[in-house]
Amino acid sequence: MIRGTIALVGRPNVGKSTIFNRLIGQRKSIVEDTPGVTRDRIYGILDWLTLQYRLIDTGGIQIEDQPFSEEINMQVEIAIEEANVIVMIVSAKEGITSDDVAIARKLKKSNKPIILAVNKADNESLRMNIYEFYELGLGDPIPISGAHGLGLGDLMDIAVKDMPDQKIPDYEGITSFCVIGRPNVGKSSLVNAILKEDRVIVSDVQGTTRDAIDTPFKFNDKEYMIIDTAGIRKRGKIYENIEKYSILRAQSAIERANVVLVLIDGELGIREQDKHVAGLAHEAGKGVIIVYNKWDTVEKDDKTMNKITKEIRAHFKYLDYAPIAFVSAKTRSKVNQLIPLIDTVHDYCTMRIATNVLNDVILDAQMMNPPKPHNGRQLKILYSSQVAVEPPTFVLFVNDPELFHFSYKRYLENKLREAFGFVGTPLHIMVRKK
Ligand code: GDP
Ligand code: GDP
Repeated sequence: MIRGTIALVGRPNVGKSTIFNRLIGQRKSIVEDTPGVTRDRIYGILDWLTLQYRLIDTGGIQIEDQPFSEEINMQVEIAIEEANVIVMIVSAKEGITSDDVAIARKLKKSNKPIILAVNKADNESLRMNIYEFYELGLGDPIPISGAHGLGLGDLMDIAVKDMPDQKIPDYEGITSFCVIGRPNVGKSSLVNAILKEDRVIVSDVQGTTRDAIDTPFKFNDKEYMIIDTAGIRKRGKIYENIEKYSILRAQSAIERANVVLVLIDGELGIREQDKHVAGLAHEAGKGVIIVYNKWDTVEKDDKTMNKITKEIRAHFKYLDYAPIAFVSAKTRSKVNQLIPLIDTVHDYCTMRIATNVLNDVILDAQMMNPPKPHNGRQLKILYSSQVAVEPPTFVLFVNDPELFHFSYKRYLENKLREAFGFVGTPLHIMVRKK
């Protein structure tokens, strides 16, 4: 459960990304082969005591060809908008600069809790420099050293204490989904099209906090939640073109969703940025549906759908489990197929396989295609069990995990899909020594 968001703000070179990396640590992504997602991260999940927080390094969000002041303004604005607690970073080495003063002034206009951290306070004499920062009017300066990992615990303790109590949305029993994609693929059009299909919008569902950015609705007596729709409508066009910002928004929406709709613009076809967006969904381990929108603009014959399906499969290899829907948000053609598809995918994401049934399937798979011996030694899978859902996660107990080859994992994954479907959900397979 994520308790809140902390944003790091400050002029360049004060040490934001150093601190960010320190705090996030080497929390490895589940999937290493997703292109372009984990590079230059500006967003991460931070474990502190028993809770988790989002951490944003706003310094990583940059706009091309804009004066420096514009960029800083944007970073501060994004911090104010996205965070529950803001940590302003300054440098004990360089002392107060006019940029520090300008940033502090902007931050003070928000009503968010602000903590002033003086970085590069690597030793006693540098720590003495913190006092001049009282001038910024942001309260007690906290000395830290990102490079040496000093004071970060104290900083986190204060950040967590300042974190306002939030009503954490609890969407238990409700299927939630989000719509992600490049600017102009039709995200808001699709959300509107889904909501227009004679659905009752539930107005006062519990948990619609935070500017009510999630939209609940009912369909066939079942409740659903579209995550982060205001984010699509509101800020949208101003900042969405900044790829890192839109990725940040997408990530926080994906986090709260059961199923992610990855939109592709059928009019323009697949673009590089689509791969980043799709990679996010895959990395998060959520249910995924690829939605090829603007189908009305595509000139088609009886082969077109096949051809495009192949294209999509070739570009998004790691999403081979995701079903593809061809829709038009504009004409609403096929939009009504999305909710049943979301239900199907969510069911698979939460499916539990009985241990005896699972072991039968794994045993059959081993008999049909035994693992190839490695240095004369043969992998043996002795026992397996499903340990989690969303995504379905399996543990295989084996004689020697070193013998478990990637290609064999792939083979078993295919066998599990053949046996149980698992449409739209990634599967996690782990091995343990028995
Ligand atoms: P950002 O632009 O605010 O993200 O700053 P960076 O994290 O890129 O750091 C800028 C420079 O300051 C780099 O050369 C870092 O190695 C250095 N730096 C960061 N933290 C510390 C620190 O605690 N002490 C010292 N001495 N240098 C630091
Ligand atoms: P967003 O930026 O992803 O939220 O995209 P919008 O929903 O704002 O749509 C961008 C543009 O694409 C608008 O001009 C829409 O009218 C248009 N559009 C969206 N969906 C469709 C569609 O299915 N067919 C056609 N022809 N145009 C669409």
